[in-house]
Amino acid sequence: MKLLTTSSNLLTVLNHLGINSSEDLLKYLPYRYEDKTYSDELDLLDKEKVTILGKLVSNPVLVNKGKFSLIQFFFISDHNEFYRVKIFNQPYLMKTLTFGELYSVSGTYSLKGKEINLTSLKKGVISSEEALRPLYHLLEGVSQSVYRNLVKRTLEKCEGLINDPMIDEFKKKYHLLDYYQALKMIHFPKNKEEIRLALRTLKYHECLAFSLKNQICRGENKRLPLQKKTKIELKKVNDFILSLPFKLTKDQISAIREIVLDMNKDELMYRLLQGDVGSGKTLVAMASLYANYLRHNQGAFMVPTDSLARQQFEDIKKYFSPFNIRVDLLIGSLSLKEKKEVKEKLINHQTDIVVGTHALFSEDVYYDNLGLAIIDEQHKFGVNQRNLLVSKGDNCDLLLMSATPIPRTLAISIYGDLDVSTLASFPHEERKVITEIVRPDSPEINLLIHEMLETNRQIFIVAPKISGDDEEKSVLAIYEKYSLLFPNQVLLLHGKMDSEEKERILKDFIDKKKLILVATTVIELGINVLSAGLMIIYNASSFGLASLHQLRGRVSRDGQSGYCLLVSENEDPRLSVLVDSNDGFHIAEEDMKMRGPGDMIGVRQSGFPSFATLNIVDDFRMFECARDDAKKIVDNLANPSYQKYYALIKQELATSAVNDG
Ligand code: ADP
Ligand code: MG
Repeated sequence: MKLLTTSSNLLTVLNHLGINSSEDLLKYLPYRYEDKTYSDELDLLDKEKVTILGKLVSNPVLVNKGKFSLIQFFFISDHNEFYRVKIFNQPYLMKTLTFGELYSVSGTYSLKGKEINLTSLKKGVISSEEALRPLYHLLEGVSQSVYRNLVKRTLEKCEGLINDPMIDEFKKKYHLLDYYQALKMIHFPKNKEEIRLALRTLKYHECLAFSLKNQICRGENKRLPLQKKTKIELKKVNDFILSLPFKLTKDQISAIREIVLDMNKDELMYRLLQGDVGSGKTLVAMASLYANYLRHNQGAFMVPTDSLARQQFEDIKKYFSPFNIRVDLLIGSLSLKEKKEVKEKLINHQTDIVVGTHALFSEDVYYDNLGLAIIDEQHKFGVNQRNLLVSKGDNCDLLLMSATPIPRTLAISIYGDLDVSTLASFPHEERKVITEIVRPDSPEINLLIHEMLETNRQIFIVAPKISGDDEEKSVLAIYEKYSLLFPNQVLLLHGKMDSEEKERILKDFIDKKKLILVATTVIELGINVLSAGLMIIYNASSFGLASLHQLRGRVSRDGQSGYCLLVSENEDPRLSVLVDSNDGFHIAEEDMKMRGPGDMIGVRQSGFPSFATLNIVDDFRMFECARDDAKKIVDNLANPSYQKYYALIKQELATSAVNDG
């Protein structure tokens, strides 16, 4: 159904958000709610946001001092509690305040003096509909209220017209809401319970569709009528391995072996290669591309950004130059002419390997015989996107790569029967990051910094927050402290800086203009600072173990030993897991055991952007159910209701690929 607006301004914004129909609009969910439900006055906490209904029982007093103003009055709630309300810098509110009248007051509560620092005021009662107001990610030029209004009108218009795609059996089994009902409740909930119920239903919808898409991709891959693939002689892959300036790790070798064996099978490869940053995934990818070249097939290596693509392109070209393998780059920022040239080379098989971004599966890109697609940082791409890339070849094997150490249980529940290879060791076997837990006042911190400076090695100092009074938690305070101790040696980097500035600072650091970098966790996971020898993490307890391990992974990349100091005021037994182990997968699993999957901040932050409602960590039980349900659907397509749902998802897979991810 068409959108119910003719405002061209609004239409442009909606378009940018990918909203082209009323259905799209209803599927675009609020990211949070402005909560003005009345607070339970029996247990108000200090600094809590509260909303209270009551009567004004004193004449409001206004004090003006220059630019500053303060209104104060007393207020008695419906439950006979007294509060002092303060309103800063909104003198015009005096007009709306009348002794004895009923108001709803929202603000921050201070236990001391029972004060409310007002943020908003409403005369009379807040109705249940107003109490929870959805907020949407919008673009400039459209207000929340205009948008909300459009959603409301659309919901009314669509009542009875929105089909519920869900299979009745699963709807009953999980007590799911009707689809339209769930949409209505997520946009205009009457209470928080409604949000929970609606979200549960929408999550299952998304999860089942995702799992089924995975199964379809995999199943269809398997069922493709394979013109027998040319077998690769494993021995010949050795030529490439021997040409390298170093020895591969055992894990790299066994991953390559698993991959080549997969490629020789009659079914198509569908494998995930997991390995921490620095574990050497790219070389495994290159050996696979080489194997694929041996069977005269083209290969595609896809990464999420243009700059990564350029970097990988240079590397791959370098390693393949002794073999006269032709490598090209295809990214959005090339000129039209350059793109056209690469596309021609691809279709005429004048190039063997192409490195690039989303551009690799654009509609107008054709390959002569794409045989292997490799997707780096695969979680940045949607299921549909990887399917699209694979569909560019008649018999295309697929290798996904990821640096996020997802515990095996989690990976399998999400991806189903994907095969997994793991690089658990690092190229430099002697690479050893000595990890210690220290208190903030430990003299060891400065001693180690001195040691690093003397040998011209870099130092990272990480803290969770940008500002705050607490030295332990704020990068600004830490930056000041260390700038005094080590003048002219300290750089500062945090998320509020613009990207140009960030890049400049990183460059100064990489070029060793200064040796100490104080940063929030914005430091890109992938950055390669070869001679960093020390990582100091303040307030280490506030990070997940997986994140701490990833941070630690930035040290000692040159094979020299290095140090990681976990600064913690209090005893935290979790941290000792890091002292004892250097295996990212073991650590992620321990983290999950100790804190439950909900706390795996590292994994959460790694982002799986193709989900609107799901979080792979919080919802992993749901992934497990949905995976089984999807399997059941695929295995029982004679069932008409399964068949119908299957057809719908397949249709979606075919049409929505470009919008995905
Ligand atoms: P990942 O992609 O897993 O983060 P890379 O493949 O980029 O890691 O490898 C990190 C660095 O280690 C690169 O500079 C690479 O050349 C180097 N490297 C990879 N494998 C080995 C090895 N077996 N021996 C020595 N250096 C290696
Ligand atoms: Mg990499």
